[in-house]
Amino acid sequence: DTAVTSSIITLDEQWGAHNYHPLPVVIAEAEGSWVTDVEGNRYLDFLSGYSALNFGHRHPDLVAAAHAQLDRLTLTSRAFHNDQFGAFCRELATLTGTEMVLTMNTGAEAVESAIKVARKWAYQVKGVAFDSAEIIVATNNFHGRTTTIVSFSDDPVAHDNYGPFTPGFVTVPYGDAEAVRDAIGPNTAAVLMEPIQGEAGVIVPPDGFWRDVRQACDDNDVLLISDEVQSGLARTGEIFALDHEDVRADLYTLGKALGGGIIPVSAVVGRADVLGVLTPGSHGSTFGGYPVACAVGRAVVELLSTGDFQKRSTDLGAHLHARLGELVGHGVVEVRGRGLWAGVDIDPAAKTGREVSMALRDQGVLCKETHHRTLRIAPPLVITREEIDHAVDALAAALRA
Ligand code: PMP
Repeated sequence: DTAVTSSIITLDEQWGAHNYHPLPVVIAEAEGSWVTDVEGNRYLDFLSGYSALNFGHRHPDLVAAAHAQLDRLTLTSRAFHNDQFGAFCRELATLTGTEMVLTMNTGAEAVESAIKVARKWAYQVKGVAFDSAEIIVATNNFHGRTTTIVSFSDDPVAHDNYGPFTPGFVTVPYGDAEAVRDAIGPNTAAVLMEPIQGEAGVIVPPDGFWRDVRQACDDNDVLLISDEVQSGLARTGEIFALDHEDVRADLYTLGKALGGGIIPVSAVVGRADVLGVLTPGSHGSTFGGYPVACAVGRAVVELLSTGDFQKRSTDLGAHLHARLGELVGHGVVEVRGRGLWAGVDIDPAAKTGREVSMALRDQGVLCKETHHRTLRIAPPLVITREEIDHAVDALAAALRA
């Protein structure tokens, strides 16, 4: 009944702040790669909550881990120890080949935390003069929504009217390693970038970019921070998108899929000597590393330890990109990405991004436009080859509609 959909949307718009522009579909249930709306229509999820649902909706292992923990202990705060936290940190560090874990809740908090750690490290270890640390960031970045993070956003909608802003950020063109090297000075604490830019439209930097940035950081005692909130945890076929480049960061930020789409879990993982600048009382969060987060996070780490999701993303991603490539010249200008992750630029002469995502919805596939002309495609990694074919056929029909 479309009246149910309309009445819920009216409620949302009357009582909820208008900081999003959702597609007009009201989801009531979901399992695996499929969601059902309040009218009983089923849709294939081709977005996965922007990579928060890498294991699909309500993966049984993750739901079971949450239930088991809810039945035992939910929250202690970090005033006391609990029997999940240390095990989660050890297992996540082992999976990611890192030495230490700082647990937080959201992606933005992980990025904020990495910025704080990098600055403290610059003052205490590198000897940068107080209050003058600089962090190098990229054009078209997206790292979250806090005041400090939007201070270095160049998206006017995310940035304008939120000042006064936090100083200490230097912006260089994404993908230009020479510009990174030139921007490094004596006060540079870190380079903070997405290994593949997500919100910008799934932008993959040129080959060799990350090797050259790593070298510039090494030459100047600067930290490399890879924001893998969206790109990490098997989305591109590896644990980290940076792994494709054979480059290691000093710190990585993780979020989204770390909580399996069930609860918010984020983390900064990396070098123990860098995270070691944190001392008791210098940073924290009531819910960061609470037992339910850790229990779900441990189950996520266990799923990733099999390598199955990474392999699915690699193999099915090749199929997805081959199929999407067929649409170039048929309403699509360009397809980018890696693994089960794609940015699809719609030919603006043919349709707007919104027109395509609405037509796709009518075809039973849910996905979302960014910047009016790019579709961001990030299916759950449990999707099948047949479902990918179904969705790409639906996209071809939506482009013709
Ligand atoms: N970093 C990156 C790379 C992201 O894509 C996002 C979210 N899209 C964030 C940080 C912020 O995460 P959250 O919305 O959980 O704060």
